[in-house]
Amino acid sequence: MSKKVALVTGGARGIGLGIVHAFAEAGYAVMIGDLGAGAADWNYQLADAGALQRAVAAESGQAEVDACELDVTNEASCQQAVAATLERFGQLDVLVNNAGIVDSGPISEFSEAAWDRIFAVNTKGIFLMSKAALDALKASEAPAIVNTASIAGKEGHANMSAYCGSKFAAIGVTQSLSAELAPFGITVNAICPGIVGTAMWLDHLMPSNTTDEAQKNRNFQEVMAQQIPLGRPQTVEDMGQAALYVANARNVTGIALTVAGGIIKY
Ligand code: NAD
Repeated sequence: MSKKVALVTGGARGIGLGIVHAFAEAGYAVMIGDLGAGAADWNYQLADAGALQRAVAAESGQAEVDACELDVTNEASCQQAVAATLERFGQLDVLVNNAGIVDSGPISEFSEAAWDRIFAVNTKGIFLMSKAALDALKASEAPAIVNTASIAGKEGHANMSAYCGSKFAAIGVTQSLSAELAPFGITVNAICPGIVGTAMWLDHLMPSNTTDEAQKNRNFQEVMAQQIPLGRPQTVEDMGQAALYVANARNVTGIALTVAGGIIKY
């Protein structure tokens, strides 16, 4: 097997698309799994069918890239995404569990439904996708699972207990699976992005009173540049590089690699 195949959840945009790009550039065939037509209401827009199509169009020039609709909170949907990957590309070597959502607010006002959905996507999604992919990964010569956790999985913040809790849990699942799957040669690692200017920040965590996307981005860059030791927010390219590294490092497993420009140091 010379060709390698990756499946990236939440890959239609943002950090996921950065990871898709890095793997495609490295010669992988890549299946993007994202909500598409199933994009449900959330406090900001998730990736709809148009986003899924645009992602494939953007990436398919340079590599074999395809997409399937996926809801990581639904076991049957996870099984279908793995089956679609095997049918399209014949194998699966790297599963990137990147899908994630955020909501914030004081616990007194935070809804049980929002709490449950954050954990369903950010934590249970890793379990369901890893379970669905297990047999295919066991058949790979160099299998890996990469989970997108967060620096919010290493340090808690006010008004962020659901998101931080789900990301601490994602790191716990990563460590546990790394031990459990080591006998099969499957590495399991997390990357912990710092602050990346995606929908999570621009549409929810740091909403701006302008609808001008370029201005929103400039405001974000300026604010974050002052707060981050290395002088800039992180990019989706930084995350693609980190995900590719942990997927290919054959003697690295169970780590949660912080990529945060010095915001936190562990
Ligand atoms: P994003 O909103 O652009 O990307 C998240 C993607 O996940 C979207 O495409 C969305 O449609 C998809 N998704 C949501 N629910 C899904 C479901 N049930 N099934 C399948 N796909 C689903 O935001 P992003 O910043 O690119 O987030 C990617 C990952 O990075 C998330 O896990 C997030 O928690 C994590 N993260 C982001 C930051 C940051 O600063 N942006 C920092 C740390 C960690």
